[in-house]
Order: sequence, then C-alpha cells, then structure tokens
Amino acid sequence: MIQIKNALQIEAMKDAGKITGEALLAARDFLRPGITTQELDTVIHNYIVRCGAKPSFLGYGGFPASACISINDEVIHGIPDDRHVIKDGDIVKVDVGAYYKGFHGDSARTIPVGKVSDQALQLIKVTRDSFFAGLEQVKVGNRIGDIGAAVDAVVCSYGFSTVKQYVGHGVGADLHESPDVPNYGTPGRGPRLCAGMVIAIEPMVNVGTYDVYVLPNGWTVKTRDHKLSAHYENTVALTDDGVINLTIVEEDF
Ligand code: MG
Ligand code: MG
Repeated sequence: MIQIKNALQIEAMKDAGKITGEALLAARDFLRPGITTQELDTVIHNYIVRCGAKPSFLGYGGFPASACISINDEVIHGIPDDRHVIKDGDIVKVDVGAYYKGFHGDSARTIPVGKVSDQALQLIKVTRDSFFAGLEQVKVGNRIGDIGAAVDAVVCSYGFSTVKQYVGHGVGADLHESPDVPNYGTPGRGPRLCAGMVIAIEPMVNVGTYDVYVLPNGWTVKTRDHKLSAHYENTVALTDDGVINLTIVEEDF
C-alpha cells in the first residue's frame, strides 16, 4: 500500500533529506585517489551520526556499512572495505540514507575521480539528465509509467541502457515503500501519482547491456559485460503545490 504523507510528515522528511544530501557532499569533498572505500564510509557514517541521525543502510537486511560504494562496473550495493582503493580515473557511486525524526532520506551520486574518460563523463551526465526528465513527470494525475518512460527515453537516445532488475521506490518511515518506480515503463500506465507521495527516483544506467549480476558476497551488483555504470538518486515529495526535492542541498552535483 502506498503511504501518503501529510504536510507535517513531509516537513519532517525535509530534515532527513537534508542530512542525506549533506552526507553526500561530505563524501564528495573527501573522495580522492588513494583512499579506501572503508575510509569514505567512515566519513559518511560520522557525518550522519553527528547530525543526530542514523545511517539507514547500516544493518538493513544485514548490510554491514553506512553507505553503498560501487566503483566503475559495480552498479549498486558495493560494500565498503579496506581492500578497495580508489584510483585516478574511477567513477564512484555513493548511495546514502539517513533516518531522522522517524523518516528516511535516500540519495545517490556518481562522482568522477581525477581524470576520467569522456565516455564516463557523458554517462554520468546522461544519468543525471534522465533523473530530471523523470522528475518532470512527477505531477498529480500522472502515473508511475510516465516517470520510467521519460528516464528510459533519455538513456536510450544516447545508446546507453537502464538497469531493469533494480528500481526506485516509495520512501517514508520505511526505507523502501510502495510503489516500485522503475526506470522504464509505458506512459499512462502504473499507479497514479497523488499529493503526499514521496518516492526515490534512481536511474541506474549502463554503457553496455542492461544485464547485471550479484557477486557471491550477496550484495554487490555488477554489469554483466563489465562496462561502466552510473547511478543518480533523489528522494522527492509530490504536493499540491508541486514537487519538493528533499535530498538536494546547496549546489547539485
Ligand atoms: Mg539509494
Ligand atoms: Mg533508493
């Protein structure tokens, strides 16, 4: 069932969203060649805890860290550890959630480290652009399929592909709520959007085939063809007065 939020609840979700967005900024500012994904996770963890919030992902389904950190052909759910050292030329997906005042925020960025390829930069930009194309469809009366169709159209126009096996979702008192928000779809199909819905739109975009697989650690998702993948996510609230992007803070990146 879709949990509709009232104005007070959406107000509270702004705080969780702000902490989530700021934790990503802290991650971006710390990210550089030579650090481990474990060190990056610690920065994110400490930021969230210092705000009086709780890292949403820590312990979620047994996940052992505060952030998902996925490099290059890793799509999502990378587990931070002290063996993954970030190198010049990597693209790093950082996915963060913060739980505060009874609600979660959920947001992700793909951050280029040092000198990355032109293709990697284009992939990151297209992934971000596809999110905003999807966001334009978040209007009272539209349907979930309108969002996915808009995301997929941008991605396909560059010859890239959207991951099908993992999707966006409702966000609220639970990190993952109804409805599913796929990054593909048919305009005019799926659940109808109404005021009070809060969803995470999160395109996962591959340079090559959309096919992905999970590593034996049970978490890390990689592209089947080992080509690059990018991820961009915000938690957004739909109100009668329009859309509020809960996890964007300061300048977006
Ligand atoms: Mg996320
Ligand atoms: Mg999410």
